[in-house]
Amino acid sequence: MSRSRSSVVTRGGRTIAAIGLGGNIGEPTVTMAKALALLDARDDIEVLAVSALYRTPPWGKTDQAWFFNACALLGTTLSPDGLLEVCLDVEAALGRVREDRWGPRTIDLDVLLHGDFHSDEATLTVPHPRMTERAFVMVPLADIAPDAIIGLQSVESWASQAQDAGIEQLSADGSWWRTVLAGARAGG
Ligand code: ATP
Ligand code: CA
Ligand code: CA
Repeated sequence: MSRSRSSVVTRGGRTIAAIGLGGNIGEPTVTMAKALALLDARDDIEVLAVSALYRTPPWGKTDQAWFFNACALLGTTLSPDGLLEVCLDVEAALGRVREDRWGPRTIDLDVLLHGDFHSDEATLTVPHPRMTERAFVMVPLADIAPDAIIGLQSVESWASQAQDAGIEQLSADGSWWRTVLAGARAGG
């Protein structure tokens, strides 16, 4: 087991973390936008950048609805464990019921990266152990962190090798969540 504590990838005294967001039940884009708003509203988390919005074929369990996916970069004073706890709390607040792994869900928030932190523990494995093989993670992450190194390669390089057949980019840029939130607040 290895668990390194140092986090030198920072901005303004905050560690830069990357999260993956996804969902395929209810109104996933609204739920994802609300998740970003809940995270950004906290004093210990700032949303620094959001990827475009994607629609992606299901992975692992393929007999379920297509997913919506995006990634975000956060500046945070939280520890990796603290950030995971907040992500799990936000999932619960937005109605996630944990059933089958890789099964249908209203919202999934995965901690992909947290500065240069590495952990092999089952409760929190960082970098997220399955991210480099998932186009639905690497393609959106390449929008906002193309030069980040995972293993021996850049995110951009992983993204270009990922099996991205079927992935559709639904928004031109990362402003979709603010538009979605404004629409949800207006009752649209
Ligand atoms: P996957 O992890 O393959 O994307 P999943 O997102 O469907 O699958 P969940 O049911 O959401 O899996 O999570 C199960 C557990 O995984 C969580 O309770 C958490 O403790 C653990 N976990 C380990 N590493 C991470 C990580 N980097 N981000 C989020 N959860 C993690
Ligand atoms: Ca996941
Ligand atoms: Ca998860």
